[in-house]
Amino acid sequence: MTGLVYDDAYLTHGDPHHPENAERLRAAVAHLKATGLWDAMVHIPPRPATLDEVLWVHTDDYIEELQLICKRGGGHLDMDTCATKETYEVALLAAGGCLAATEAILADEVTNALCLVRPPGHHALPSRGMGFCFFNNVALAAELAIRRAHRDQVSIVDWDVHHGNGTQEAFFDRGDVQYISIHQGALYPGTGSVDEVGLDAGAGKNVNIMLPPGAQDRHYVEAFQQLVIPLLQAFEPEMIFVSCGFDTHAADPLARMCLTNSGYYEMTRMLADFAEAQCQGRLLNALEGGYDLGAMAHGTEAVCRALLGMEPPEPEDLPFTIHESVTHQVDDWLHQNIGLHRDRLGL
Ligand SMILES: [Zn+2]
Repeated sequence: MTGLVYDDAYLTHGDPHHPENAERLRAAVAHLKATGLWDAMVHIPPRPATLDEVLWVHTDDYIEELQLICKRGGGHLDMDTCATKETYEVALLAAGGCLAATEAILADEVTNALCLVRPPGHHALPSRGMGFCFFNNVALAAELAIRRAHRDQVSIVDWDVHHGNGTQEAFFDRGDVQYISIHQGALYPGTGSVDEVGLDAGAGKNVNIMLPPGAQDRHYVEAFQQLVIPLLQAFEPEMIFVSCGFDTHAADPLARMCLTNSGYYEMTRMLADFAEAQCQGRLLNALEGGYDLGAMAHGTEAVCRALLGMEPPEPEDLPFTIHESVTHQVDDWLHQNIGLHRDRLGL
């Protein structure tokens, strides 16, 4: 069974003119209802994360500061990240939605889950929010699995088009959390180079895979087959978390990757198959970015179909033609880098 976390309260944070706005979730939810998938999943009610839980990842000072900003009616954390008066409570409910789904999976109430939450989380650093993110939803859920459910180790796979600098920082020196990010190079927030491999006990547990603009479904599938899945096999996680961003979609206005719904289906299917074989199917996908409404709708459908073990969706056409030379350049880049990564990681 597949769980779904969603709450109308997630629509109340933010500014309608900001790219990370409530329409993103409205589009995903309307499409799930139209396709019948909404009723095929077990609805898990979110709860607010407690202060003690948020402190697993974030500092006391930052939590207090965000609470104060919201009490005063809102304000900017940085140029792109604006809190409204609702943000503090909604961010607690977004994190808590991921915690509730983790609890449901660990209690065997559902096998896997999709958390349609906002605000997103993977850029949220321990000591400050940034990049549209306030609390790090996936990092907190991973902590719950380790601390409260006594799991020894978990993996986080982050396919949002941006590097999840917040998640990386939270676990950089930790040996019990493997973080694998696959993202577009030379893009916000500027971190995520292959040299950032982790420190101390975390050495080798932080893996950054950069792809050039123009990467398509088959490039991501190959990177999963050659790197992501073998890395998971080597680490042997007891649960897998996904920072699921649909800003890798070809139609996304903020980045230049070229995925379609088929890519999201294939990546989720590979992770679900691995989880089924290795960790009792325990897989949690939490929404991060994605700023084209059609991509939000079709990407969400693809992930749900894969989590539910259903057939793939009707393939989408790319919204433009990709010149063959771009595809060849990505092929060459990918093959060189897969080779380098595999040598370095001993795969
Ligand atoms: Zn993103």
